Amino acid sequence: MWGAVGALLPLGLLIGGEEAMAMEIQSFKLDNGMQVLVVPDTRAPVVTHSVWYKVGAMDEKPGKTGLAHMTEHLMFKGTHKYPMGTMDKIVQRRGGVQNAFTSYDFTAYYQKVPVTELETMMDLESDRMANLQLTDEIFQPERKVVAEERKLTTDSSPNDKFFEQVMRRHYAHHTYGHPVIGWAEDIQGYTFTDAIDWYRTHYAPNNATMILVGNVTADSVKPLVEKYYGPLKALASVPEREVVDEPLRDSQLTYVKLDPAVQVAGWHMLYRAPSQFQGIAGAKVGKGDATGLWVLSEILGGGATSRLYQELVVKQQLADSASANYDAVRAGETTFDISVQPKDGVSADKIRPAVQAIVDELKAKGVTKEEFERARVSLKADEIYARDDPFTSVYRLGMWVNAGGDVAHFQDWQDELDALTVDDIRALAVKYLKMESSTVAVLAGRQEQLGAMAVSE
Ligand SMILES: [Zn+2]
Repeated sequence: MWGAVGALLPLGLLIGGEEAMAMEIQSFKLDNGMQVLVVPDTRAPVVTHSVWYKVGAMDEKPGKTGLAHMTEHLMFKGTHKYPMGTMDKIVQRRGGVQNAFTSYDFTAYYQKVPVTELETMMDLESDRMANLQLTDEIFQPERKVVAEERKLTTDSSPNDKFFEQVMRRHYAHHTYGHPVIGWAEDIQGYTFTDAIDWYRTHYAPNNATMILVGNVTADSVKPLVEKYYGPLKALASVPEREVVDEPLRDSQLTYVKLDPAVQVAGWHMLYRAPSQFQGIAGAKVGKGDATGLWVLSEILGGGATSRLYQELVVKQQLADSASANYDAVRAGETTFDISVQPKDGVSADKIRPAVQAIVDELKAKGVTKEEFERARVSLKADEIYARDDPFTSVYRLGMWVNAGGDVAHFQDWQDELDALTVDDIRALAVKYLKMESSTVAVLAGRQEQLGAMAVSE
């Protein structure tokens, strides 16, 4: 449902049952349009102060990919009031940690500090929302830093390079098809003007959401928020987010790659799927579809009791691992993925018919009551663990609102979980697990790991 948000907390914290599902979210809005969400958590005298801009890699144009991430780097380059390096020093000296992240749907900045230091963080963060000092002398070296970052991460990882090409094919039109860090040639090509335009067009209070989780309340922080963020000027108009729809297709895509650096082969199937906020090819998403697909991914491939694992790993002994994954919290359409690691000596061409048989059986006969209940209990437990961790709460709430969700729905989607039936799960499998519009992707180190599969161009 949520994608990778970090490790869950250890078992043993699962107490409180239903009550623990509800999380108090207080909110208010400044006159300049900035939305503020506050989640009180009195367990420790700390607060996570985060500011989320509703702009990310999905908003980038062809030829200018990576600009959202590039701008994230530039946000650490200082202002007139707090020149380069000052902010880091202040946060550190005040006992805090800070970082930032860029994704498809958002760019976010946070500091985790003792509550007594919140005012200083607001001073710093509000200052760089409006007053970033950018020159070409600052921009050019940082562009090289980003180019180097790409070389050291994506380009050094056979798996990352492979998935970049898989997504490029799967989303031939949608902007989810380019990498967040940007294509190497785009990083080479963009200019100081591109970055400053990006900053001026998107960094403003009416395109931002502040999320505070910690020993604070909306009432206790409001005077500070108003003091520091209140004077910032709103943009006359916030650019409307354009979601490029990926057209429907009626033939399966296959991408097979050999890379001698790869030891263990991987077989993947990506089905097109609706997210919580958008259906396939721009369609409206059916109520409960995303929550139901989440249950389906748990039954099909969530751990050692799942169907894929039991069949492929335990019974048929074709694979060392087999799982399903579904990230529902995205602004555009998403994917429902199956990943299998074939056992040594089993070629990847054996996997597809085996997976297809499992999926076909599920579509024909549905899931059992026991599987369904076990999945619901397990997903609710995951949710309770996650909400117990303040940073995870910040991250999930931020993902949710930046993908287009409202706060009320963030609180009550579990009701959808309770409203689902066994028949709904089968119907969703039939509706969405469609071979003909899927993408099959295989990465291996040697031809023999592929069997009869041919390497793609
Ligand atoms: Zn970076």
